[in-house]
Amino acid sequence: MNERYADVVVDISHEKLDRSFQYRIPLELEEKVCVGSRVWIPFGNGNRLIEGYVIGLGSSPKYEPAKLKNIQGLVEGGITVETKLIALAAWMRETYGSTMIQALKTVLPVKEKKRIKTVRRISLCAERGQAEEALEESRRRHFAAKERLLERLLETPEIDSREASGELKIPAATLKSLCRQGLIRIEERPEEMEVPAEIQTEPPVPLTEMQQAAVSGILREWAEADRPSLLYGVTGSGKTLVYMELIQKTLEEGRQAIVLIPEIALTWQTVRRFYRRFGKRVAVLHSRMTPAQRYEQLERVRSQKADIVVGPRSALFTPFPRLGLIVVDEEHENSYKSEGTPRYHARETAVERGRLEGAHVILGSATPSVDAYYACETGEYALFTLKQRYGEAVLPRVCTADMREELKAGNRSIFSRKLQEALEERLRAGEQAMLFLNRRGFAGFITCRSCGHVIQCPHCDVSLTYHSSGRLICHYCGYSTEAVSRCPACGSPYIGGFRAGTQQIEQTVRRLFPGVRTLRMDADTTREKEGYEKILKAFLEGKADVLIGTQMIVKGHDFPRVTLVGVVMADLSLFASDYRAPERTYQLLVQAVGRAGRGKLPGEAVIQTYHPEHYSIRAALNQNYEEFYREEIGFRRMMGYPPASSLLAVHGACDSEEQLERAMEYIRKYLIRIRRGRQMQLIGPAPESISRIQDLYRQVIYVKSPEKQELFRIRDQLEQYVEINSGFKTVYIQYDFNA
Ligand code: ADP
Ligand code: ZN
Ligand code: ZN
Repeated sequence: MNERYADVVVDISHEKLDRSFQYRIPLELEEKVCVGSRVWIPFGNGNRLIEGYVIGLGSSPKYEPAKLKNIQGLVEGGITVETKLIALAAWMRETYGSTMIQALKTVLPVKEKKRIKTVRRISLCAERGQAEEALEESRRRHFAAKERLLERLLETPEIDSREASGELKIPAATLKSLCRQGLIRIEERPEEMEVPAEIQTEPPVPLTEMQQAAVSGILREWAEADRPSLLYGVTGSGKTLVYMELIQKTLEEGRQAIVLIPEIALTWQTVRRFYRRFGKRVAVLHSRMTPAQRYEQLERVRSQKADIVVGPRSALFTPFPRLGLIVVDEEHENSYKSEGTPRYHARETAVERGRLEGAHVILGSATPSVDAYYACETGEYALFTLKQRYGEAVLPRVCTADMREELKAGNRSIFSRKLQEALEERLRAGEQAMLFLNRRGFAGFITCRSCGHVIQCPHCDVSLTYHSSGRLICHYCGYSTEAVSRCPACGSPYIGGFRAGTQQIEQTVRRLFPGVRTLRMDADTTREKEGYEKILKAFLEGKADVLIGTQMIVKGHDFPRVTLVGVVMADLSLFASDYRAPERTYQLLVQAVGRAGRGKLPGEAVIQTYHPEHYSIRAALNQNYEEFYREEIGFRRMMGYPPASSLLAVHGACDSEEQLERAMEYIRKYLIRIRRGRQMQLIGPAPESISRIQDLYRQVIYVKSPEKQELFRIRDQLEQYVEINSGFKTVYIQYDFNA
């Protein structure tokens, strides 16, 4: 009979999670101990019994077995939020490939060592009447300091201790004596207090029939199958109100809710909506917070003052003891995928946390990810829809401008005639416009300006990327070919990359419309802290006529006076060199177009492209997700891309190109060897779309298989192979599923 061993960490709030200790699992506990269990262990020289958490199990001892001590027992009532988060970490380790320590560091709230600035607040704790009496008495007895303080506190029930010692000149002894009498209370709190005082909560607005139907449908789903729900609602249809209604139900059951929002959409506008509805029950997290501010928010969670957390990806791991609901808003967003290790996806991980803790999960989007919609088709998720915008707002009129026609007509400007005319009209009417350059994922594809032809990989159906070496390369399979100076389809010499940036667009607008007021939002103008909010605010206040920007401008904000959205070059994301390019393009276009006409004025959008016939653009034109999805899933099935099939990316990075190439070749050979008898396809190695970052060369090999489990097994085998093979000492290998 094999002995079983457990790795136990003693203090999970400590940064040194990697200090785990191995213990033997006695036979009688074997069935009961699992990853996440809270156990009693003898510790230190005195064999004092302390509590620990099991973070790993195994059948081989790491030390001499005779020296290993036994786990003494399970902690009574041992299921804590940490237990559940450790189980989640184990799932992440398995699913995304990382060490257990890395996964634990991602999910567990590690204590901040940073000293937090605190403030001391003085407040009345006696009844008003009693305080008034005390005030009278101090007047009579000429206790001037006491009198000043009580007077002040009867005006404002809480003041800063700095005000007491400064302006009011209250001696410490007076404070002490008032405390002792039970008249005042002095509390030390982290600086930067909870909900801003100026925010008043408001009663919920009544839902429309359509919104109510979605709420009832989701509640029915919760009562019956309790699958994750996908709420597919067009922009401005009131998804947020549906979430709020369901959050309300969750709080009424004494449970807590997490609302994930993409970082870029986490603006003051969004946060304020939650404050208004739920007041002080809301805690907010975002990446611009200082560690002390984060700590303060998490303290409010721990002390159960807050039961709703609104935040980006990492807020998913908020340690709520009775988590009832996880909302993933804008679930299609790229920022839900972590670039660190483990490379987890917040949507998938939310579904798993929901499953582990019996919490409901809602995913929402106006442009659902193909992955989520596919899961609805297979019955894994339940689908709910909101088809119309709220109120009088209607979806904008959208048209395309065919840039091939513009060239033919002799217009070489970056603006089509249609867009120029529309801009002129809007500016004359005193309305606002947004110009959007979707540079995300843009990687230097080559296109013909006469016929629109894009040079693609004959094997992978993705665009080839121009490299400084003068060759065009496929980032999936490594196929490469000579760059061309004439279009292979029509012979035109107007073939090349698209280079215009936001700055150039701004200059052109100013030249075309003298006197126009513009604002630009891109990586340059938002670098300073609050830069992003400042620009949005200025635009909202009407301090500019035209806002020009990258994908940053399409998220989160309502601009009631924007009636025109121009997409300068839709092809930029359409021909990015990866298989998700058409999906991302559909999403960006619909979200961008959805910025127009959100107020009372009707909106209009112009999409400039060389490919008006492409299904992503056609579907965006009609805002028809179904149409897009049908085409897209057909393409994925044919090419074996996720979610129709599973894809494992094996990334390699190394400072020596030669060593990297050799290592990747070893991996390829090894994969060919273990492929025998398995249904899988190998692609690459190929240089990554950014082939060198900070002096590290990067390559990737893809493995496709209809079976995800098969890819897990392959990853495990490969991990072992890499670990024992000295050729990989200098090469950093990472695994990624369905990226
Ligand atoms: P989405 O999240 O789907 O884009 P929002 O929740 O932001 O939509 O709603 C769009 C706008 O319509 C918001 O300004 C919101 O206040 C308003 N709205 C939506 N539903 C209602 C309702 N039932 N009553 C009042 N206002 C509503
Ligand atoms: Zn051509
Ligand atoms: Zn290829």
